[in-house]
Amino acid sequence: MLSYQHGYHAGNPADIHKHLTLIAVSQYLLRKEAAIHFFDTHAGKGLYSLHDDQAQKRQEYVTGVSETITHRKVLTAAAWQHYFAELDRLHKGCVSSASLAQYPGSPHWMSSLRRHHDRHTVFELHPGEHKALASLNKDHTGFVVHGDGLSGVVRMLPPKTPRLLILIDPAYELPQEYTDVATTVQDILKKSRHAVILVWYPLLPADKHLALCERLTKNIAAPVLQSEWVHKERISDWGMYGSGVLIVNPPWQLEQQLADIFQPFAKALGKPTEHRLKQFNSAN
Ligand code: SAM
Repeated sequence: MLSYQHGYHAGNPADIHKHLTLIAVSQYLLRKEAAIHFFDTHAGKGLYSLHDDQAQKRQEYVTGVSETITHRKVLTAAAWQHYFAELDRLHKGCVSSASLAQYPGSPHWMSSLRRHHDRHTVFELHPGEHKALASLNKDHTGFVVHGDGLSGVVRMLPPKTPRLLILIDPAYELPQEYTDVATTVQDILKKSRHAVILVWYPLLPADKHLALCERLTKNIAAPVLQSEWVHKERISDWGMYGSGVLIVNPPWQLEQQLADIFQPFAKALGKPTEHRLKQFNSAN
């Protein structure tokens, strides 16, 4: 039974971390003309109202996208420029914290980057979320599949395009999902050794991500870059205090690019906000 709905969390600090990382990796891959197949295994509903009951219940976007807008002047890296240009386009003018009304999900961010000769496939399992996603214009979603994204992406590999970028962004509602994600990454690499894979995970006091990170940094031969964004103090026994993204086969110089994106934001927000990076299996 699926109960998670991303509308309660859209535009929160973890979304900012994930979407800026996705934009930075995509921008690097797009420097070359060769086509890319973009995959999004857990798409969500694609576009979120920040005025509806779900977003208003927890108002997580206030410490996320609203903060980015407040600090826009110091967020000047190319990924931020794309990010704000898209938010402006969506809001039909220069967006402010007061005019902010919608937040785009990962299918939209991928759509905003891909070119006409790239491919884009997204998976969503929740019937309601799938229906909402499928009702959007295909230009904002890519090709939408109603089904399990983990087995779905492996089935579609290797792609017909020379390159591929895969975002794996589960809700981790079930403990089993951590294991399933690690197994899926290993299966993807068996079929497409050069796949660039982004795996998002939450930072929780229970440290549930550690076994996943251990498996993906020690049990695979590919280089992995780990990016973690801590947005609040780890004080309680419950609740997410940050997020992580493991980038398998990271583009060259991504480490510096991510530092240029997130360090100015962390500095603007002040403590306890922190961005940390770590490389695994790197030849350097
Ligand atoms: N990637 C989205 C974004 O950044 O805007 C957010 C995705 S949200 C964290 C996770 C989504 O995965 C939910 O909409 C949930 O319904 C969906 N989901 C859960 N299990 C799934 C599965 N096995 N395959 C595909 N989608 C799944």
